Amino acid sequence: MVALIFAMAFLVIWQRDRARTENLALGTGWLFLAIAMLISQLSPAHLGRALVAITHVPYSIAALGMASGILIRVGVAPPGRVFLGISLAGICAMALTQMVGNSIKADLLITNITSGVIMLMTTQSFAAAAKRDGIERFMLVTLILVTAQFFLRPVLSFMFDGPIQPAAYRESAYYMSLAWLFGFGSVLFGLAQLAVSMKDHIDALKARTATDDLSGLLARGEFEFQVKEAFARASTKGLNVALVVCDLDHFKQVNDIWGHQVGDRAIAGFGGMIGSTVRDADLAGRVGGEEFCILVWNATEENAAGLSERLRKRTMELDIGDGALDVRLTASFGVAQRIGRESYRSLFARADKALYEAKQGGRNRVTSSGTSEEVNSEANAGAKSGTGSATSTADIAA
Ligand code: GH3
Ligand code: MG
Ligand code: MG
Repeated sequence: MVALIFAMAFLVIWQRDRARTENLALGTGWLFLAIAMLISQLSPAHLGRALVAITHVPYSIAALGMASGILIRVGVAPPGRVFLGISLAGICAMALTQMVGNSIKADLLITNITSGVIMLMTTQSFAAAAKRDGIERFMLVTLILVTAQFFLRPVLSFMFDGPIQPAAYRESAYYMSLAWLFGFGSVLFGLAQLAVSMKDHIDALKARTATDDLSGLLARGEFEFQVKEAFARASTKGLNVALVVCDLDHFKQVNDIWGHQVGDRAIAGFGGMIGSTVRDADLAGRVGGEEFCILVWNATEENAAGLSERLRKRTMELDIGDGALDVRLTASFGVAQRIGRESYRSLFARADKALYEAKQGGRNRVTSSGTSEEVNSEANAGAKSGTGSATSTADIAA
């Protein structure tokens, strides 16, 4: 019943998102595990050794399904031929013992070793490919336990069994340990798989809302969230950060003259250019229609103005026409450095004011808010004496 429930769960998840074939593989694996267990439990006792041979096939398919699902999920293509080879070798060995052997223990060892080898290979590949976060570690530990029990359980339980009478197979210590371990173990294994699948689902949802489709940069909410985190880190480390706010010039005209599609291409091109120009430690987001924001990490206002100047020049070089059109863009930039523990709102307001000044000054230019002048004039006003030591950050108008 547990196996059937997991089979249903993964098949339903797969129904809803068919691109994630790992869930189809897992669902199939659980379905065949349920089938194998049902046959084991419900078939007549006189089948004896034939029962082990019959269930060997669905047990092997179950192992193949689970192994494939686990590997596909971490981006590893299941080694189809090797898996098929192991399965065929298991089936041949089983046929051979059925014909010439006389011990059910040999049959049981073959069926366990087949699944065990498949899971061992899977565990190795998973360990190499998985990330090292909590939920993947849990999955790895579960995989190791699942793999180990295929080799340990038969050997250990046989110590308590004398020769097993095929007709009394279901009364053996082996079968008891199988039933109990699978009862509890499958819940653990299934839950680990479900947890991982849920995590994937949540990650995908987050990624969908965190990035802006058109520009490929952070969406507004995510940008602001990450900026606030970065502010806390910068304060702890005593590093400077600066904010750049930029806006495409006369963008309404771009839409009016060339059409909305070209407008969208311009936003995508401008966003892509920003994304490829800033460093990894910087944050870049689309905060409005054609308005973008960059948090420049470990930078003064001068550094951020320098970056903005590079962005301004590259904006003019962007070619967003499609060969037939020659559409050229310009953008204006406002820059401000964070003062002390200044809030994002306040810093944004100062950078936005500088952007407004850049627009007023004729567009296609970079304007700094003059943070150090501002700080010094406040300090001077407080001290009531101008010492003239202010180091001014003049506008870097292009
Ligand atoms: P300014 O130089 O003063 O910034 O002039 P502007 O025309 O760019 O003025 P404003 O920034 O106010 O105009 C923004 C325009 O951008 C208005 C809107 O039609 C357009 N826009 C906003 N979002 C999108 C979008 O996603 N795609 C397209 N194609 N256009 C957009
Ligand atoms: Mg504009
Ligand atoms: Mg605008």
